[in-house]
Amino acid sequence: MLVDYHIHALGHRGGDYSEEILVEYFSVARRQGIEEIGFTEHDNYLSGLAPEAIAAAARRFPYLQARLGLEVSYRPEREKEIRDFTNKFSFDYLIGSVHHIGEWMFDHPACISGYASWDISELYQAYFSLVEKMVRSGLFDVVGHLDLVKVFDYRPSGDVLTYAQGALKAIVDAGMAVEVNTAGLFRPCKEIYPARELLVRCYDLNIPVTLGSDAHEPEQVGREFGLAREILYQVGYRKLTRFANRQQIYEYL
Ligand SMILES: [Zn+2]
Ligand SMILES: [Zn+2]
Repeated sequence: MLVDYHIHALGHRGGDYSEEILVEYFSVARRQGIEEIGFTEHDNYLSGLAPEAIAAAARRFPYLQARLGLEVSYRPEREKEIRDFTNKFSFDYLIGSVHHIGEWMFDHPACISGYASWDISELYQAYFSLVEKMVRSGLFDVVGHLDLVKVFDYRPSGDVLTYAQGALKAIVDAGMAVEVNTAGLFRPCKEIYPARELLVRCYDLNIPVTLGSDAHEPEQVGREFGLAREILYQVGYRKLTRFANRQQIYEYL
């Protein structure tokens, strides 16, 4: 079974959910052989969510299950705010993502000049310690794009596993899932998140995985899932994790 658990139907445009907007995402998912989709807007578009619009669109696709999630931009100082707004809806799952180091939005093309002021190994340490903090906050179910810090292809000295080990230990302790996110293939790093060596370690640690395209347009739903599935198989994974009401459900890939 294939799921696409990372979809932004509002892209970076904002606005409100409507049946017309959502139906386009359902259509592409069906064409791609995906059986379950999860809408995960950025948390700044929370006011546009309308579970009834998802239900209306879903009625037109009887063989496609839809879930409501949210991609939350984690910053340590936001924890209380995050707890408050995530209680407003009944989400099936919450993706915790680190997009900022301090005030710097390191994954945004307009902010790329910020890399010049970092030693890249220290940057990786700072990034993964924020991921660890995000995981230990206990607020989330899925780790979004685990190694996003590689997005512009800045690489540290040595093995990425040495930077990520604290975060991986925290993920095991928290019982969270990690997403395999194909969007990295379309960014300068040209690699799925997480990199294969991280995924191998996730498998060794028995960390469950889910799958997402990070689509911001309908035609991006399920992009490169054939490749993602092949990598998952090579690493040893045979199951994916779905969520309902924040409970994990395992399915054969
Ligand atoms: Zn993200
Ligand atoms: Zn996203």
